[in-house]
Amino acid sequence: MQQILLIATGGTIACRETAQGLAPVLDGAALLQELPALRAWCTVSVCDLLRLDSTDLTAGDRMQIARTVWENRARYDGFVIAHGTDTLSYTAALLHHVLREIDKPVILTGSMLPMGAPGSDAPRNLLDACRTAVSGRAGVFAVLHGKVIEGCRVIKRHSSEMDAFLSAGTPPAAAINPDGTLTWQAPPQPPGTPSLVQQIDPHVLLVKLIPDLAPSFFQALHGYPHVIIETFGAGGVPARLEDAVRGLIRSGTRVYITSQCTEGGADLHKYEVGRRAEKMGAVSLGLRTTEDALAAVMCGEL
Ligand code: ASP
Repeated sequence: MQQILLIATGGTIACRETAQGLAPVLDGAALLQELPALRAWCTVSVCDLLRLDSTDLTAGDRMQIARTVWENRARYDGFVIAHGTDTLSYTAALLHHVLREIDKPVILTGSMLPMGAPGSDAPRNLLDACRTAVSGRAGVFAVLHGKVIEGCRVIKRHSSEMDAFLSAGTPPAAAINPDGTLTWQAPPQPPGTPSLVQQIDPHVLLVKLIPDLAPSFFQALHGYPHVIIETFGAGGVPARLEDAVRGLIRSGTRVYITSQCTEGGADLHKYEVGRRAEKMGAVSLGLRTTEDALAAVMCGEL
């Protein structure tokens, strides 16, 4: 029988209503109690790692999740991480970059309603995540609302609907059929050599460009290690901010450009405003989602 490790971290899936609002209280065993059917086709062990709303997760917590997978990878066929949906895309992207060429399925899931609440999506999502974890397909994926999304493409697009996630740039990697089987869009990648990125640099700041951002704002950032500017459309720096951004780069800050558009990415060759950014030494993040870009920069890949 296939062996899965369920890593519980909190999130709505583990929440109960308290006097202070929804708070994660359920442990991994309580989540599994709702899925008796699982016992027929896999054995699930539990690691109660964290019990937090994902708003409270830090880079250190995410690295703890990564290390738990890495240290247990020889003992299990797959991993399921029960996680809050609000920052699930950040964790998925970071795990994608930190667990390089991981040779086991690492599946993040969560839910929009708590486990046990009427009409909750939690049982379906957790069951689908376990199905994906025993599928043998290596890599980091998010499994939500019947979709299997690559870790570097996950975007939360809605704060309350059940169908809250999308796969940026390409269709989901797989769909979960009503009979529980999976249909993958593409064959698996040839296996590489797995490794764990031990150290990350969380000093990455994301600045959203707005039409009237004051040039003086950039002075406050001088010397900060990494600044990603989320610019408009295909990307570029407004003429009135040219000196300010150049000054930031000269101060030693590495500046990256991404797009505010959910899909399509940045193309700094297209417009004069984009080439201006390139000429001053800003790095294009191309097609990456913001979460993927943050993770790649934290891991020193760019
Ligand atoms: N605030 C919750 C969290 O991210 C939302 C959720 O899980 O859906 O932990």
